[in-house]
Amino acid sequence: MPKWSNWSQSEQSKPAQLRFPRHIDDIRAIVAESAERGLTVRAAGSGHSHYRLVPTDDVIVDLTGMAGVVAVDESRLRARVRAGTPITALGRPLHDAGVGLLNQGDIDRQAIVGATSTGTHGTGTTLGNLSTGVTAMTMVMADGSVVECSDSQNQSLLEAARLGMGAFGIVTEVELTVRPAYRLAETGWEASYDALRPSIDELNETHRHFEFFWAPRSDTAAAKHLDITDEPAVYPVGEEGSRCNWSYEVLPNHRPHLHTEMEYAVAAEGSLECLDEIRNLLLNRFTDVYWPVEYRRVAADDVWLSQAYGQDVATISVHQGIDQPSEPFFRACEEVFLAYGGRPHWGKVHYLDGAQLAEAHPRWDDWWAARDAVDPTGVFLNDRMAGWRR
Ligand SMILES: Cc1cc2nc3c(=O)[nH]c(=O)nc-3n(C[C@H](O)[C@H](O)[C@H](O)COP(=O)(O)OP(=O)(O)OC[C@H]3O[C@@H](n4cnc5c(N)ncnc54)[C@H](O)[C@@H]3O)c2cc1C
Repeated sequence: MPKWSNWSQSEQSKPAQLRFPRHIDDIRAIVAESAERGLTVRAAGSGHSHYRLVPTDDVIVDLTGMAGVVAVDESRLRARVRAGTPITALGRPLHDAGVGLLNQGDIDRQAIVGATSTGTHGTGTTLGNLSTGVTAMTMVMADGSVVECSDSQNQSLLEAARLGMGAFGIVTEVELTVRPAYRLAETGWEASYDALRPSIDELNETHRHFEFFWAPRSDTAAAKHLDITDEPAVYPVGEEGSRCNWSYEVLPNHRPHLHTEMEYAVAAEGSLECLDEIRNLLLNRFTDVYWPVEYRRVAADDVWLSQAYGQDVATISVHQGIDQPSEPFFRACEEVFLAYGGRPHWGKVHYLDGAQLAEAHPRWDDWWAARDAVDPTGVFLNDRMAGWRR
């Protein structure tokens, strides 16, 4: 029996079938056959979600074989790419075509549609998450048909499914908004939390990107800001905190230490009080946890299930080693986040049920209605997601 696990091994599954399609017709056949046999089909990107999104006992479709840039339209600032392309494999070909992604997360190992399907984000008060940059998708639907959705065709499907968590169909290609290729200069520094805190809002307002990791043991923050620059790129690419290179060379970082993670987004205004409470939890109650807390900003958007739907947010992430107890710590953090009206990251640990998720997301019922309309029998829902339905 095949085995599938996520990056940290915290989520595992033994599906009846683990399929590696190389062509859209392979996907159409897999979905049509599975639907006829009443089997669940879940798409897998690079397995970097900490939440039980991909696992099913039935069929997992790994998109690794569907990778590469299809076309770049430099005048419209659009790039069409295959769904399984790792973000790391986009940088150079997009650069060669004169463009770059608007923003990226902390790492670039995710498949592009794995990232857009969960609202993966970087940091920057003016920058939306990756789902906001999706302008069109090609999707294999529950009956094996192929649907194109964009501004001009099936627009409401695009609105709902661009952050779709694999529940609408299997995306084979995605079109993204890009910008002319740009270089970033990065400046990193360390400061005590008390020294950094008064300047956090200003740093967010004055830099394209600003973020920091606060470490509980030392009560210090490793901060950095990044801005677009005309300075020449410096090779070899330096260490995190000192790079001056093309965007795709500066935005991703090396995060090799296996961990599990919870992340909530709370309204940007008041987010530092929320962070203070999380800090207190670590300093006073969960003193064994030494993993840092990350603070970032994401611009408001109109993506139905986005963490930033309708409001500018700060995202606060807490981490724990995979062989250390995480649940009591994460549950205590979740209580704080919920008191601040937080919304969980879809690809990270949370303990919310369907009713709580509906409360956090104003477009929850619209999202489910759009989903159920294209997949009435739930071919694309695993048990966890089916349990969220009202
Ligand atoms: C070390 C590390 C660093 C991270 N850094 C960040 C960060 O900086 N910012 C952030 O926001 N998140 C971050 N994450 C979380 C990560 O970006 C998300 O969980 C993302 O969804 C993972 O992408 P993936 O390709 O691994 O997708 P998977 O985890 O494999 O899948 C995620 C979802 O996408 C769906 N999916 C995948 N491919 C398709 C497809 N072709 N069609 C339809 N649905 C599809 C799956 O069904 C699933 O629901 C990080 C995670 C790790 C482990």
